[in-house]
Amino acid sequence: MKNKYLCDVYETVKKRNPNESEYLQAVYEVLASLEDYVNEHPELEKNGVLERFVEAERFIQFRVPWADDQGKVQVNRGFRVQYNSAIGPYKGGIRLHPSVNASIIKFLGFEQTLKNSLTGLPMGGGKGGSDFDPKGKSDGEIMRFCQSFMTELYRHIGPDTDVPAGDIGTGAREVGYMFGQYKRIKNEFTGVLTGKGLSFGGSLARPEATGYGVCYYTNKMLEVMMKTSLAGKKVIISGSGNVAIYALQKATQLGATVIAMSDSSGYIYQPKGIDFSSIRELKEVKRQRISEYLSYDKEAIYEANPKAIWKIPCDVALPCATQNELDLDCVKKLVENGLIALAEGANMPCTLEATEYLIEHHILYGPAKAANAGGVMVSGFEMSQNSMRYAWTFEEVDQKLKHQMEQIFLNVYECSKHYGNAYDSVKGANITGFKKVAEAMIAQGIV
Ligand code: NDP
Repeated sequence: MKNKYLCDVYETVKKRNPNESEYLQAVYEVLASLEDYVNEHPELEKNGVLERFVEAERFIQFRVPWADDQGKVQVNRGFRVQYNSAIGPYKGGIRLHPSVNASIIKFLGFEQTLKNSLTGLPMGGGKGGSDFDPKGKSDGEIMRFCQSFMTELYRHIGPDTDVPAGDIGTGAREVGYMFGQYKRIKNEFTGVLTGKGLSFGGSLARPEATGYGVCYYTNKMLEVMMKTSLAGKKVIISGSGNVAIYALQKATQLGATVIAMSDSSGYIYQPKGIDFSSIRELKEVKRQRISEYLSYDKEAIYEANPKAIWKIPCDVALPCATQNELDLDCVKKLVENGLIALAEGANMPCTLEATEYLIEHHILYGPAKAANAGGVMVSGFEMSQNSMRYAWTFEEVDQKLKHQMEQIFLNVYECSKHYGNAYDSVKGANITGFKKVAEAMIAQGIV
């Protein structure tokens, strides 16, 4: 990064947010990729757009007290970052995981701003969460936690202000409990959360959206850049949560063979293909470890080392687990083994070095904010349906999702080409997303 304005902005971010490594990583990646655009647009500096863009509009941290099944009081820390509302109400998921802290929430809110812009829908960026660990908790404990979390959060959100959704650890059950508590406190039934149950305003195809979207994006990328498709390809998907499960289903429907999947304890390998309904039952119904897949398929192999999944040769890799799960060594191994494409279902699954290596080696690369935008896109569709008091069919939602995911790819691809390297989709995605937000910020004055 050579541009003085960008370097100064980044130095300030570093000073203001010491020790927030994930946040600094995300900001650096975005600022570096905007260099060509910033050089061409002096009005950005004149209007202080980047100084404002890297500072969240609002950051809320709060206490979440709840009583466990033994009656013991537990205290967690809750967060909501309302990152940027230039193009619409804040929108972004709630992550429940012991690793959640201010840095992770800020990195996710920052990235969400650009991702939401890429969808083409009027949504600003936000994110929230808590260091609460839902694993091993009873239904009652989950409910009491969610109610306590919403008892503070409700005063900061609203259907035209900030619309949270699910993320890691927050599925339909948790969204349901949070929605119930919001409705009870506010005495109003509005589309204040997305990812709701179908009987109370949820959109069909929301659970499938992120995983399906990654596959639609990947398929279009293969078609346009390599004149091929997912059909006949060997695919590895990391994780076995919401995104991974539906990426497995769509990749299989598109003719690929998904040969390996993982959870945080290990991975399974089955060269003949992993079965979608078994994984869905195992993970969504029984909530068991992925090692239990061997009870459905005796020929599958299990290894208790999730990272070793990247040593398996494949054509396409879809990391759908968590941030920084692929470092430079993992990516080098994948490329050595014949990888042609990688699209990110998870947020920031590749380290900076890993991403640079993929781009340098002309591997087709779908960056998270573009490739996994399907989830927030269908959340946006859920908001539209709630406002209309109307529900679209599964096919209608799926068709719109497919069309928009392909459009995102084409926009990013055109922008990458315009700036001189069709493979540099990081630059393409960041500039495409940023341009719209920056224009709106300038038009709205210094706010
Ligand atoms: P889930 O909690 O449903 O699933 C996460 C999965 O990843 C679990 O199987 C988990 O295993 C696994 N996992 C966690 N850490 C590791 C690791 N180090 N190695 C291998 N597997 C691991 O979350 P989602 O599927 O909803 O989200 C996954 C990612 O996708 C996140 O980065 C999220 O931000 C992103 N995302 C999600 C969207 C959505 O619509 N859900 C939208 C856009 C992005 P275990 O059970 O053992 O913890």
